[in-house]
Amino acid sequence: MIVDRLGRRFRNLRVSLTAACNYACTYCVPDGKKLMPARNEMAATDLLKAVQLLQQAAGIEQVRITGGEPLLTPKFDEFLNGVMALPLNDVSLTTNGQLLPRKADVIVNSGMKRINVSLDTLNPERFKRIARGGDLETVLHGIELMLEAGLKVKINMVPMRTQNAGEIIPMLEYCLERGIELRFIELMRMGHLLNSNGFVADYVSMESLLDMIGAVYQFERTGAPYDSTAVRFDIHDKGVFGIIANESEPFCRSCTRLRLSSDGRLYGCLSNSRYQGMSELIELPIHEALPQLQNMLVSALDDKKLSFQGETTVMKFIGG
Ligand code: SAM
Repeated sequence: MIVDRLGRRFRNLRVSLTAACNYACTYCVPDGKKLMPARNEMAATDLLKAVQLLQQAAGIEQVRITGGEPLLTPKFDEFLNGVMALPLNDVSLTTNGQLLPRKADVIVNSGMKRINVSLDTLNPERFKRIARGGDLETVLHGIELMLEAGLKVKINMVPMRTQNAGEIIPMLEYCLERGIELRFIELMRMGHLLNSNGFVADYVSMESLLDMIGAVYQFERTGAPYDSTAVRFDIHDKGVFGIIANESEPFCRSCTRLRLSSDGRLYGCLSNSRYQGMSELIELPIHEALPQLQNMLVSALDDKKLSFQGETTVMKFIGG
């Protein structure tokens, strides 16, 4: 097991199935163009091989399927069923939910227990302005299907001062009524937001969020696993919400995440665009692949920063 001087090791793997997306969210994509797949995207079988190698070499215990939009690619079903068959502690999915109604059966039948849906607004017009694709009703229907099937649902919302800050309480209420954990993701200085006025205008800090929520509800900070990305709060008798406070309270010092992009790049840190190419390595016999992978993992772990500093990398490539 490779461990750094802070005791960090890789435990959670995020696999971006494709860089393509059916949305073009304002904070993720600068020019509103829908996102295409990366040039050399790996097939489901190759991504599965990579996951198995990483399990052996790094001790990966949890996998999150992400993208781009993971439900958009035809390889989703094969990858999902393949990864569910591996001896992992947890497999989860992050999706914008647009294709959830179509993929609900595949997801439920795979045995997956939990899912994160990204949703920034409950207002159809604002939805179109932020996501620049898709339709709100379809996402809400998909969420209901997941809840009916007994999956645990979390919703990720990126609060933005000039766009959806007025919906912080309505979104919280929508979630509390349905037993959904809402997670506010502080806007991150990724891609075009790095050093931009747009970031400064829209960033809502954890402190401001807690002030807004505190004006309506009483809550107290509650426990979260050691390497959790979210700070969690309990609203007595009503439910729990979380804040992924990348800027206010970065979790870098206990980060156990490793990212594999759809074209086989291994990233050790969201805040570092350095990567190790893994796609050729999966062709090698295992006794040759493993030592090479160990070296890559040492470099990837060394890439982890001590605090979140932002990065030019766009989230859809690195797998948010
Ligand atoms: N398409 C899937 C989805 O929408 O959940 C998975 C990929 S998306 C890049 C993953 C998450 O990253 C979404 O919740 C999205 O809101 C978030 N995200 C993207 N860019 C961000 C930024 N600059 N700051 C904060 N969150 C961001």
